[in-house]
Amino acid sequence: MNSATGTEQEQRSFAEEALRLGGKTEEEARRMGAVDKADEQVESLFAARYQTANSPVHKAVWEGKVPLDLFAAPPLAESAPCDAAMERSIEVMRRRRNNKTIFDENKKVSAETIAELGQAGYWGMLIDPHYGGQGAPFARFARFLTRMGLIDATTAALASVHGCIGAVDPLRTFGTAEQKNRLLPVLASGKKVSGFALTEPAAGSDLTALKTVAVPAGDDYEITGEKLFITNAIPNRAIGLVVMLEGKPAVFIAELPERENEQFQIFRYGLWALKHTYNNGLRFNRFRIPKANLLKPPTGDGLTIAYHGLNLGRLSLCASAAANMRVFLANMLPWAEFRKTYGQPISSRELVKRRIARLAGLIAGADALVAWGGWLIDQGYRGELECIVAKIFGSEAQKEAAIELFMKTHGGRSFLHGHLFGDNVHEYLAPCIYEGEGEMLGMAFFKSLVKEHGRQFFEPIGKRLQEVGIKHFNPINPLHLWKLRHELTAYSKWSIGKKFAWADTQTVPGMDRRLADHVAFALHIFPEHAKELSGALRKHQLRLADRQCRMAELSLRVQDTVVMLVTAMWAHTQKKEIAIASADILCQDLHRKLTGQRPSDAYFRDVNRLADLILGGGFEELAQVPREEILMKY
Ligand SMILES: Cc1cc2nc3c(=O)[nH]c(=O)nc-3n(C[C@H](O)[C@H](O)[C@H](O)COP(=O)(O)OP(=O)(O)OC[C@H]3O[C@@H](n4cnc5c(N)ncnc54)[C@H](O)[C@@H]3O)c2cc1C
Repeated sequence: MNSATGTEQEQRSFAEEALRLGGKTEEEARRMGAVDKADEQVESLFAARYQTANSPVHKAVWEGKVPLDLFAAPPLAESAPCDAAMERSIEVMRRRRNNKTIFDENKKVSAETIAELGQAGYWGMLIDPHYGGQGAPFARFARFLTRMGLIDATTAALASVHGCIGAVDPLRTFGTAEQKNRLLPVLASGKKVSGFALTEPAAGSDLTALKTVAVPAGDDYEITGEKLFITNAIPNRAIGLVVMLEGKPAVFIAELPERENEQFQIFRYGLWALKHTYNNGLRFNRFRIPKANLLKPPTGDGLTIAYHGLNLGRLSLCASAAANMRVFLANMLPWAEFRKTYGQPISSRELVKRRIARLAGLIAGADALVAWGGWLIDQGYRGELECIVAKIFGSEAQKEAAIELFMKTHGGRSFLHGHLFGDNVHEYLAPCIYEGEGEMLGMAFFKSLVKEHGRQFFEPIGKRLQEVGIKHFNPINPLHLWKLRHELTAYSKWSIGKKFAWADTQTVPGMDRRLADHVAFALHIFPEHAKELSGALRKHQLRLADRQCRMAELSLRVQDTVVMLVTAMWAHTQKKEIAIASADILCQDLHRKLTGQRPSDAYFRDVNRLADLILGGGFEELAQVPREEILMKY
């Protein structure tokens, strides 16, 4: 490896090189390099101005001036052609919920529910009207998912599985005209609802370990291998299936047969999460798929396709979390007012009020990220960094809300059969794992964020070190400094420029004082993040890949600042006290997390005030959220 030629050296990615010098095996370096390459290929599908290096988060960190206009989504259009199908779908689900007919005898979303939603236009939301769909802009679809999620979380999740990570997005984005004409109408009508089969027993976080293979056989390919944890994987579904073809990942649209047979088998296991839909393993043994169902991206391979849909799925996941957290809040309030201890309802206690206020803050954050991310996707941005922030925030907020806020407030009743928490706790936790476990994604966020900076300043230093044969750079050795003078000068200029840069003092006209303070703080801290990130690259150099805890920590700091800015900017556009006060609480929490300060009495007063507003009916939207019966009334 050390004897690599110049060309080979240039072809090696930053991560690959980092792993190599970090003492990793050649095999590990090669596999990480493959993941990096897939990521770069997704990038090249987007026009330069929409790529990660030009994304709002990247610019905010590295460019010295935060592009505030890219952090505030304009309000959605008053109406759109897809609205009628959305209203029909909501009506179907409301009726079915009231009649208790969403699920079948196995407690899974029933075939009748799926068919009726098909007639309403639900499964075609993201599909162009030309193919029988509704052509919903993504931002509108995401907001609609939150509404659907209030009625039934599983049905909302299925729309995301089908439309984002399932067969719809791969076909819309990468299908040929023939494939779209043949397959999209079936998917739009709901005759076939789809899923996505990527994970295998040995390949979850590590996608380079995929083993399922496709081998040409006449007009078909024969697929052999095993998939695990696949949502919506039952006979007669259409599945975006990731396999290895000629040593590279590829995606087929697999139309699963109506019955299991020798070539195609489902293996079932008990799974607590997503209990109202099917999640199964798939076994293929020379299972035939027509060659016509192979998707061919213009650049890259099957992982390019997978990564594209995952971005949309991650935003949808945050939209679902926004729904679940509304359900928590709507069900916490009547309970907290009903439950009296020591002669007073617990809703009058500060500890409980803090939970109510924190929950409202988390809802504001999730709503803000969904509106922002959806808008960016509709603008044409790749949105990788932004969707990761939404996924991690949404899933972690939902987990915290479920356990720290909802469960604790409901006390022992949380664990009764029939209680929302006890019955659904796994539903609330699983999003932290699927579509990328949070900390793994956090590291991916870090890597994407520092890639360009590393390329610009650290790669030239690395190459030069190799050219002049310095194995261990010593910053006080004059000979080393001389040999690297050009490369080090370029980096020093950047570093000094950052040190003496003018403060970013932009303001948003007419913004509430509370929000303006948070925006000012975010503008102040983004350049600090650039210095922290660059400092980590400088300190750990190519061994940074082993400093996972540092990467995760730095990643989360940037993510927290992004959430803060997006939430404050969103609340400003809402022009409602409830949105502003909720956003303010979340932003104050994030501010303390970023600075390590203790909460002040003023903060506790703000918390009380917001909780009182909510208890007084100030969160008007909650009126539409279905409420569960209070259990064990006395
Ligand atoms: C309810 C549910 C629904 C799902 N639906 C689908 C679906 O529809 N389609 C599909 O393809 N998949 C699906 N999945 C699979 C899901 O995407 C994977 O579970 C997830 O990607 C993690 O993979 P894994 O479970 O194999 O974890 P593993 O790869 O076994 O990893 C376990 C943990 O180890 C840690 N870890 C792993 N590698 C590293 C590393 N290099 N450095 C540091 N830490 C590491 C991480 O914390 C990780 O979470 C679903 C899963 C669940 C639970």
